[in-house]
Amino acid sequence: MSHDPDRLKPASAAIRAGRRASGPSLAPALWASSVWESESMDDAHRRATGMRADQFYGRYSNPTVRSFEDVIAELEGAQDAMAFGSGMGAIASTVLALCSAGDHIVAAKQLYAGTLAFLRGPCARFGIDVTLVDGTVPGAFEAAILPSRTMMVLAETPSNPRLELCDLDELGSIMGPFTVVDSTFATPIGQQPLAHGVDLVLHSATKGIAGHNDATIGVIAGEKELIDAVWAYGVLHGAMASPFDALNALRGARTLAVRTAHQSATARRLGEWLEQHPAVGSVHYPGLASHPQHDLAQRQMRQFGTVLAFELTGGRSAVAGLLDRIQLAKRATSLGGPETLVCHPMTTTHASLTTDEQADTGVTEGLVRVSLGLEDPGDIIADFYQALEVS
Ligand SMILES: *Cc1c(COP(=O)(O)O)cnc(C)c1O
Repeated sequence: MSHDPDRLKPASAAIRAGRRASGPSLAPALWASSVWESESMDDAHRRATGMRADQFYGRYSNPTVRSFEDVIAELEGAQDAMAFGSGMGAIASTVLALCSAGDHIVAAKQLYAGTLAFLRGPCARFGIDVTLVDGTVPGAFEAAILPSRTMMVLAETPSNPRLELCDLDELGSIMGPFTVVDSTFATPIGQQPLAHGVDLVLHSATKGIAGHNDATIGVIAGEKELIDAVWAYGVLHGAMASPFDALNALRGARTLAVRTAHQSATARRLGEWLEQHPAVGSVHYPGLASHPQHDLAQRQMRQFGTVLAFELTGGRSAVAGLLDRIQLAKRATSLGGPETLVCHPMTTTHASLTTDEQADTGVTEGLVRVSLGLEDPGDIIADFYQALEVS
């Protein structure tokens, strides 16, 4: 039997990888150290000037963080990966590593609100121009590229909060600018952007990867040369992942496949049930035949994800009623954890957008976002049944 990691399915790869810093211990070792001793002056020089020396100084690298990066690289089919102190740390470090004043970024308008705020605020302040396009429209990214000025194309798929998709093949075929995909909503189990030719895949591992609401951490994966370039900037930017968060994220990655499969199946079941409910106008989930990009989802996703959104025809007051009555699910805004979470994007995750921007990205009064957890699917549906029935 060959043990070539390339032949392992993701569930097995997630178990096998990321053990370089733990010796024979099956649980990952927590290297809390911020500094390591050198053997000689030459050795100190080698560590100080080498790429990502993992026993030199904590901001350069850390063995526990490196083990987590190994797992993500393997799951994404990447040469290398790099972790950051949060998903936003990954996004900001990557943009500032690769783009300079005078450069141009083409980004989907369907982006995490923090990413949008980063593109509008700091990027504009540093002279990096941004063009936002509708990421669901074929050819939209390509059409907005300015020859010799566009340095990066940035997309998120599925997007927050309406689960809209960008075509990964199309992004992967773009030549010139770096193509970067925020794949947080899919997790490395749900899709593999690099296999479509995208340059960098990025995750808020705070969500499904760590998966237990106990770590704030981000990660990117891609070709070693590109990751090294981001590292060379990142070591100065300083948004490094904490070893403790990397430990929790590595623990989470071990069970990511089984959790994602369960949560995706529950999302689909709840989505199908909600579609039949008289209080519900529409359901947004890539795994449903009603999703306008369901064919694309089937082409590029192995799992359709653990988050869905739906529209209550009763608007904001109907959402308030649902949030008052929901019992098993929690009123909270994150995703990918063990607890099912419900939120009203307009007043929480997307509250920083202007009314026009909310309208433009479909963040409506009646929109509800649900992150499915690990509870029994029947119990979740029963909870929504009792919370919606009264309205
Ligand atoms: C949460 C999230 C981020 C930001 O990640 P943090 O870990 O909170 O910094 C970025 N993109 C998406 C899609 C997210 O859901």
